[in-house]
Amino acid sequence: MSRPLVVDSVAALRAQIRDWRRDGVSLAMVPTMGALHDGHISLIRIALEKADRCVVSIFVNPTQFAPSEDLDKYPRQLGRDLDRLAEAGAQLAFTPGVAQMYPAGFATKISVGGPAAGLESDFRPTFFDGVATVVAKLFLQASPDCAVFGEKDYQQLCVVRQLCSDLDLPVDIIGAPTIRDAHGLAMSSRNAYLGETELAVARQLNAILRRTAAALAAGADEGSATAEASRALVEAGFEQVDYVAARESLTLAPWRRDRDGRLLAAAWLGKTRLIDNVEVPSA
Ligand code: AMP
Repeated sequence: MSRPLVVDSVAALRAQIRDWRRDGVSLAMVPTMGALHDGHISLIRIALEKADRCVVSIFVNPTQFAPSEDLDKYPRQLGRDLDRLAEAGAQLAFTPGVAQMYPAGFATKISVGGPAAGLESDFRPTFFDGVATVVAKLFLQASPDCAVFGEKDYQQLCVVRQLCSDLDLPVDIIGAPTIRDAHGLAMSSRNAYLGETELAVARQLNAILRRTAAALAAGADEGSATAEASRALVEAGFEQVDYVAARESLTLAPWRRDRDGRLLAAAWLGKTRLIDNVEVPSA
């Protein structure tokens, strides 16, 4: 179990990758914000099935946080993360500082339409600009052959696919299934914010979504089923439901029964915002 090489500058990242490329190796990338858990590790395992080497970026990207959000208290634990990368077999960790990614005078923003509209964007209007900009930078810095993103952040996965398609970024985007705890709660770095009582409530989110998806697949009316799911979330103990919505799974256009769908939700528990999503099989 060897520790990954750690680089924190774009120049050192490119030098290492250039060396590997000279030997003809293929490269997969897993972008993360650190505080690594089993969900992240599963992405690295998939990356290493697809390519010879895996580079994991660890960067808490300030441009995807609104001023009111948790940028300052987002968990940072680099030493532990590097141990986890060693266990998972990732060969390279890219850990840039904010000044490396956004030097003084930085003035560019990438804004994706299509799947970025609605859902998260209704509540976090600057979020996907931040994500698209940092992902485009990471891809141009590392030039991986492929990159693995979790379905946990389903809209983000769709936005990254759109970004690569629209900008002809030659990176194959691989979606990876959501890793959950034994009670169905999707693993998330933000789960660290939850106390015991909140955790018990959080664990009901996935069950409510699965129940609602099954009702939709069985013919339930979309508006009534999603309204009922919001009610069930509040009854379970969520304080505020941002959305529960069914969408067409590839484009996130309005849901149609004859196409594969996705049921997506975001809800608040205290100061913690949780998201999750499940499949809605086509009729
Ligand atoms: P983050 O560090 O939260 O920005 O997430 C980095 C990557 O890990 C993203 O592609 C996420 O979708 C993915 N991810 C986060 N949680 C999970 C999970 N529970 N299962 C699978 N992938 C995940």
